[in-house]
Amino acid sequence: MDLKDFIREIPDFPKPGISFKDITPLLLDPQATQYALQELLSEVEGPVDKVVAMESRGFFFGLLLAKELGAGFVPVRKPNKLPFQTISKGYELEYGMDTLEMHIDAVKAGERVLVHDDVLATGGTAAAVRQMLEEQEAQIVQFNFLMELSFLKGRDYLGDHTTHAVLRY
Ligand code: AMP
Repeated sequence: MDLKDFIREIPDFPKPGISFKDITPLLLDPQATQYALQELLSEVEGPVDKVVAMESRGFFFGLLLAKELGAGFVPVRKPNKLPFQTISKGYELEYGMDTLEMHIDAVKAGERVLVHDDVLATGGTAAAVRQMLEEQEAQIVQFNFLMELSFLKGRDYLGDHTTHAVLRY
């Protein structure tokens, strides 16, 4: 099965020059979704205590991964979405800054964590999550993505951590 057949590319969305990788055709197909999940799991070296996933498209496979791995699920969200006390990290966007938040009790020191998102682009998002987890003294087992836009060299921000992407563009 070629999973790229289930990724719809939308030119110039959400702004000119960006080719948006739309995973909703994949999510519509249960067999392709199951296959993608197995591919995401293929290089995970367990055990994993928590799956940390980024708002919002990281949540789809993040929760499936957590269930398969017998791990807890941790949502990372944009500011002021999480109701309890949070830790937060600012990161640079192409224009300006943004912030990500995680509940303060979500990940404990020494826990083995898998970080999942749909797309690794510039790596800014994943690098911010990396910093939050390192500050929590978590052990990052793997950065895990459905797609990597390799020409943007995002994995350079993830240091020595293992980075697995199912599809490369
Ligand atoms: P970055 O911080 O640049 O690595 O961007 C990663 C985040 O932005 C992920 O949460 C993706 O969902 C989203 N993203 C970035 N580029 C794209 C793209 N071309 N298509 C779909 N989502 C993208």
